[in-house]
Amino acid sequence: MLPAIRLISEAAEFAARRHNGMARKGRGSEPYINHLAEVANLLAAVTDGADAELVAAGWLHDSIEDTGTTREELAREFSERVASLVVECTDDMNLPKAVRRQKQIADAPHKTPGAKLIKIADKVSNIGARIVPHPGQDERDDLADYAGWAEQVVAGCRGINPRLDRIFDDTIARARAALTEAGG
Ligand code: ZN
Repeated sequence: MLPAIRLISEAAEFAARRHNGMARKGRGSEPYINHLAEVANLLAAVTDGADAELVAAGWLHDSIEDTGTTREELAREFSERVASLVVECTDDMNLPKAVRRQKQIADAPHKTPGAKLIKIADKVSNIGARIVPHPGQDERDDLADYAGWAEQVVAGCRGINPRLDRIFDDTIARARAALTEAGG
């Protein structure tokens, strides 16, 4: 396997190329890579940089779902564990959204510890992007809907890393405050 710094650097570059030109949902339609950087950095921070494959998988976690990257490619370029972490975080896009959402809630408790951490970091990032100044009705509805669902997924992922659990709880609290404020 590549040395830690190379593994993560290669993963970041791979993700930047694969997601090139994509925008994320929420806050000013930021480039998609901002989401991946946030997830990877969150994972690195809460684990004190102890798990390079986890951080690499953070960069790559949406690559199969959104860019047609294959598991084999990730296993060859990075490692078998990086590939399987990403697979664990990949939804079956042939299923309707409501079914995928329900499946995430049901499957969460059965994921490996690494995949659980990625899923929590992903939800932290996605909720954060939906907290915008002066939200309109649609933005409020979207935040309330997403945060409510994310809480159910994360309920099945908690207990691996208390720091990350706390960051998630703080993010939910920020979402609630934003909704209360905006709701008047
Ligand atoms: Zn993501």
